[in-house]
Amino acid sequence: MIYNAKYECMSREDMRALQGERLQKIVKRCYENTEFYKRKMDEMGVKPEDIKSIDDIVKLPFTTKFDLRDEYPFGLQCVPQSEVVRIHASSGTTGKPVVDTYTKNDIDMWAEGVARVMSAGGVSKDDLVQVSYGYGLFTGGLGAHDGAGKLGAVQLPTSAGNTEKQIMLMQDFGSTVLCCTPSYAMRLAEAIHDSDVVSIDKMKLKAGFFGAEPWTDGMRKELEDKLHIKAYDIYGLTEMCGPGVGGECEFQDGTHLWEDMFFPEIINPETLEPCKPGEFGELVFTSLCKEAMPIIRYRTRDLTRLIYEKCKCGRTAVRMDRILGRSDDMLIIRGVNVFPSQIEACLTEFPAFQPYYFITVDRKNNEDTFDLDVELRQEFYSADAAKQLEYVKPLFNRIVSMVGIKPNIHVKEPFGIERSMGKAKHVLDKRNFKN
Ligand code: ADP
Ligand code: ZN
Repeated sequence: MIYNAKYECMSREDMRALQGERLQKIVKRCYENTEFYKRKMDEMGVKPEDIKSIDDIVKLPFTTKFDLRDEYPFGLQCVPQSEVVRIHASSGTTGKPVVDTYTKNDIDMWAEGVARVMSAGGVSKDDLVQVSYGYGLFTGGLGAHDGAGKLGAVQLPTSAGNTEKQIMLMQDFGSTVLCCTPSYAMRLAEAIHDSDVVSIDKMKLKAGFFGAEPWTDGMRKELEDKLHIKAYDIYGLTEMCGPGVGGECEFQDGTHLWEDMFFPEIINPETLEPCKPGEFGELVFTSLCKEAMPIIRYRTRDLTRLIYEKCKCGRTAVRMDRILGRSDDMLIIRGVNVFPSQIEACLTEFPAFQPYYFITVDRKNNEDTFDLDVELRQEFYSADAAKQLEYVKPLFNRIVSMVGIKPNIHVKEPFGIERSMGKAKHVLDKRNFKN
């Protein structure tokens, strides 16, 4: 169901006009309330009055993750603390985390973004939504929680972890919707299938909203088959609020972005010039509604493309292709660009393999090494190297044809690759520790 047809189905012309109005307000707000944007805009010789329509966005400065770190924790906040009702922070694997703060209206807008995604996937007040994203500073848990609340659905805040108990409650309470990372959904699916206590046939699951990390259509099929659900993508980032910046509709043909709240651009990450419509590049977002900490032209480092054709569902909201990965997740091995998600795509083409993998890159004798741990499913597993080779050879050939370099494939025993409760870690680049 379309949650808010006014915005989700707005004509392009009206949407551009609305985005222009909102941009003018946001720019004024940022310029008047933060030293950072005042300085950046003054340096570029742009004044808030120069922003008259959404086309003028290209005159504005970009904001990067480094800027957010420099302004840590509240340098970009535009309201006094008395108006702030919540603070979240992203994991920030190194150094200080990225902080986002929210007014009451911001929390409400964020919940609407998530509600639009869930509603597009058929969720209503009759549903019981199990939120298995982590609760805490991470935006996943509370984001999905508030979205489900907005629809009047039952919120089941299990958070991530405690897998055996999760699947018991899932069956006993009759959860109809599951929200978590695709990695954790796989872990849950596996636990259900291995369990003597619960059975997928006794469950009521019908939909899953998976995001916070890249995943492939191969993984979608696997999750849909194993969990007997329709699996939808949900996308977001802390800098814009959290999950629910966009999500898939029933046609699962691109992730609709809520353009009335978050203005998307695709730029060439090297020249910083806008890409042509439909071209792949780096996704950039401007908050159009955020009160507490609006961000102008945030460089997400996520690589994707935008599709402006109207969707079969009737929504006009632009669609985003699957995220190939973050530019900083891209590995350069022997001069070739490799995205971890390409390995997942290859693996899911072969029924003998689990979609789990771990890449280790190193440098030995002046050459990059590329080791890939994979896991055969129990029923295909054998410790005999000759038998393993039967499965490994076609996978090897597929990876060589897709990414263009040869991996050293190591077959792990079942469960030999660590399962994740949140965002999975797929890579160890040992070259980073050497000079
Ligand atoms: P962190 O930067 O610590 O991972 P966030 O939780 O804010 O913090 O992560 C946001 C990022 O997660 C996005 O920029 C994107 O790279 C990734 N992400 C979120 N949802 C999806 C999705 N549906 N598909 C692919 N990547 C996603
Ligand atoms: Zn659609």
